[in-house]
Amino acid sequence: MIIKTSPDEIQNYLVDASNFTGYCDTVYLPSNENEIIEILKESNSKKQKVTIAGNGTGLSGARVPQGGIVISIEKMNKILEINPESKYAIVEPAVILREFQSKVREYNLLYPPDPTEKNCFIGGTLSTNASGEKTFKYGSTRVYVEKLDIVLADGDQLKLERGKFIAEGYELTIRTENGKEYKLQIPIINMPLTKNAAGYYCKKDMDAIDLFVGSEGTLGIITKAQLKLVPHPEKIISCIIFFDDERDALQFISDARNKSYQTRIDKSNNTIDALALEFLDENSLNFIKEDYKQIPSNAKAAVWFEQEVNKDNEEQLFDSWMKLVYKNKGDEENAWFAMNEKEKEEIQGLRHNVSLKVADYLSQNNVKKLGTDSAVPDENFMKFYYFCTEEMKKNKFNYIAYGHFGNSHLHMNMLPNNEEEYNKGEIIYRNIYRKAVELGGTVSAEHGIGKLKTEYLLNMFGEKVISKMAGIKKILDPNLILGVGNIFNEKFLKTN
Ligand SMILES: Cc1cc2nc3c(=O)[nH]c(=O)nc-3n(C[C@H](O)[C@H](O)[C@H](O)COP(=O)(O)OP(=O)(O)OC[C@H]3O[C@@H](n4cnc5c(N)ncnc54)[C@H](O)[C@@H]3O)c2cc1C
Repeated sequence: MIIKTSPDEIQNYLVDASNFTGYCDTVYLPSNENEIIEILKESNSKKQKVTIAGNGTGLSGARVPQGGIVISIEKMNKILEINPESKYAIVEPAVILREFQSKVREYNLLYPPDPTEKNCFIGGTLSTNASGEKTFKYGSTRVYVEKLDIVLADGDQLKLERGKFIAEGYELTIRTENGKEYKLQIPIINMPLTKNAAGYYCKKDMDAIDLFVGSEGTLGIITKAQLKLVPHPEKIISCIIFFDDERDALQFISDARNKSYQTRIDKSNNTIDALALEFLDENSLNFIKEDYKQIPSNAKAAVWFEQEVNKDNEEQLFDSWMKLVYKNKGDEENAWFAMNEKEKEEIQGLRHNVSLKVADYLSQNNVKKLGTDSAVPDENFMKFYYFCTEEMKKNKFNYIAYGHFGNSHLHMNMLPNNEEEYNKGEIIYRNIYRKAVELGGTVSAEHGIGKLKTEYLLNMFGEKVISKMAGIKKILDPNLILGVGNIFNEKFLKTN
């Protein structure tokens, strides 16, 4: 097994894409489950902290160590099986999402979870319940997890399969391969009715798999996963529409969202049913304008939509979308349609570039990520969006706003240019999170809590619930070695 100790070799493991930094002495690169078991047994006996590293694209500092050792799973990167008949794949955790998606495409299959950043590891996406453009239609990562192999903090193995361990009400009992039984008390909470990656999944009669998906490296190391696949759509229309007035763009999204829901209720495939509904505000467009001649000079907002079509309904659906564009005063003349796979990737690239430019900006100004990740129920989304933009304008703070608006999910990215501004921005950021919670939303829809948002999770659920969530960790990891600092502040691990 490769073990890295020199500062030069380990510095890449001390950061993630949030620009948050940490420290550790040693990075282990196990190449199989047995090596992971050995490292964990030793760390557990020494009560030594262990941080699990995926590919470091996370935006909440979750894989950034604060002492102890790092286990990077990067060597466990094989696709073990793709089964086109039963539509599933079995993968090791360090398979890169982009490569996985293109491999299953060869079998005419689709793995729908698709965060904008596709260089992440599957293990990272499982641990954060990642989601992306296609989540509006297909849901987040959790929906696609059928089986998980996990090594717990003491080196014991846990094999989960949907339906194997189901909670009785709020009591969940799981059994490891050594026959050890854990009885877990699931906190009784109302999960937000939005997509969500904030804290442990807690629901009456829940499946144990759902506890581990989104647990951000705090409960065990995922060593293998069986993932559900779906048939690849025959064809996808992909288009960016520019708008002269932001309100028209927002109304367009709201109309398209409602029509999509109706189509799903009607089980029709001849009317609008968006696959993706993504929004970019004027500041986002200005941020990338010099790289994209397609952006008209008067554009105040843009919406990127996608829809699955087939040769029978393509024309009719295209027509329905254009009627909706016309109704909402979209700029038909400058509409950017992807005519082939390459152009579809270019459109996807534009959306990705906005996120990348934000990351560049932060690293140039040497400040941590200050971007919201809240989703709220659809009916409160407009109120939430205008609250956020108003906060920015009132405080004269530079920002760019974009996001997965089909899911009523906003990334309000603040652009501080030094530490002092960052501190000012944090106050606005808090107001925004409080508003999201007040409106029935979540403090993290997809990036997870990590080490940067523990305060906001506390605000969302309160001390009692957070203590109960921490209680689950304390039972599964009594020596408190795994992912310490993620999800809840360490003080919740120390109290009874
Ligand atoms: C430009 C950009 C755009 C992004 N867009 C999106 C988006 O649209 N949607 C979205 O959801 N996210 C997005 N992200 C965030 C990020 O890509 C996801 O959170 C991703 O899932 C992280 O994967 P990773 O492999 O990089 O994990 P890391 O950042 O390395 O780790 C994330 C967490 O997973 C844990 N972990 C990793 N592997 C394992 C394992 N095998 N077992 C247990 N725990 C493990 C780590 O300990 C850590 O807690 C974006 C990031 C960037 C930089």
